[in-house]
Amino acid sequence: MDINKEWFINKINGFLDNDESNKMSKVDGSYIFEPNVLVGIADGNDTIYNRYKNIIGEFHLTPSEAYEWYCKKSNIEFNNKNLNVVAYILPINQSTKTENLNCSKTMPSVRWAHTRLFGEQANMNIQNFLVEELEKFGINAFAPTLDKKLFRTNRKIWASNWSHRHNCYAAGLGSFGLSDGFINARGKAMRCGSLIVDLKLPSDAQNRPSDPYEFCINCGECIIKCPVNAISFENRHDKMICASHVTSTIPFINKTYGINIYACGLCQVGVACSDGIPKKK
Ligand code: SF4
Ligand code: SF4
Repeated sequence: MDINKEWFINKINGFLDNDESNKMSKVDGSYIFEPNVLVGIADGNDTIYNRYKNIIGEFHLTPSEAYEWYCKKSNIEFNNKNLNVVAYILPINQSTKTENLNCSKTMPSVRWAHTRLFGEQANMNIQNFLVEELEKFGINAFAPTLDKKLFRTNRKIWASNWSHRHNCYAAGLGSFGLSDGFINARGKAMRCGSLIVDLKLPSDAQNRPSDPYEFCINCGECIIKCPVNAISFENRHDKMICASHVTSTIPFINKTYGINIYACGLCQVGVACSDGIPKKK
C-alpha cells in the first residue's frame, strides 16, 4: 500500500468517524470534529524551520532536532534525509460554532468547552493512532507534542517549542489571521496537529503563501467579537490580554459545565474566516 497524502486523509477521517474520543459523549454524542480533514506535507529540512527560530524563538524545534531527540531516546539510528512533517486541520462541528456564536458575548458555550478539552484528547489520540499505523509498515514517526519530556509551553510568552499552526503554515494549509488564528479552507474554527514521519513524501510547500497573513482580509470582525479588546489593527493579537481572559473562564466552565478547562474562541465564530478562506473584496 502507498503511504501518501490520501492515506493520511483516509486514516484521520476514518478515525474521526469511528473513534469514541471524537464524540460529544457528555453532550449529545455528535462529532467533535467533522470527518473532513485537510492534510499538508512539509519537508523536514525546509528552510522555513530555521526562519521559525527567529520568528517564534530559538527554542522552537526543527523537525530534525525533534527527531534526533526521539532517535536517541529510542535507540534508532538518526538520519534526516527523508524527514517530513504531516500537518492536518480538524474542522470543528458546525453546531458547535453556531452554539458558541449564539451563547454569550463573553463566555464559551458547552460544546465549545467540551471541544477544547475532549477534542484535544481526540487530537492526541489521532497522533498516537497514526504513529502506530505507520509502525505496521516499519515507518518511524514521532509526534513531539505527545512527549512530555520534549514538549514545552512557555506560559510567560504563550509559545511552545513545537507549534502545530506553524507546521500547518509550512505544509501549505493556509495563513495566519489578525487574531493569530489559522485561516484555511475549512475555516479558522478548528484544532490542528502535526507529526514527524521518516518517509519520503512530496512537499506541499508550493501551496504556502509567501505572506504569512495572505488569507486575512482585514475585515476587523474578530476585533468586534473579542470581549477584552485583545485584537486590534495596530497591535494585532495581544497574547497576554487574550490569555488572561481565556484562563478567567475556568471557574465559569467548571461551575456551569462541570469540566476543568479554559476556552473562548469567540473571535473564531460568526466572522468572515470561520468556515473557510474569505473572499477578497
Ligand atoms: S475575522 Fe477578518 S480580520 Fe479577523 S482574522 Fe478573519 S479575515 Fe482576518
Ligand atoms: S480567544 Fe477570546 S480573548 Fe482571545 S482573542 Fe479570541 S475572542 Fe479575544
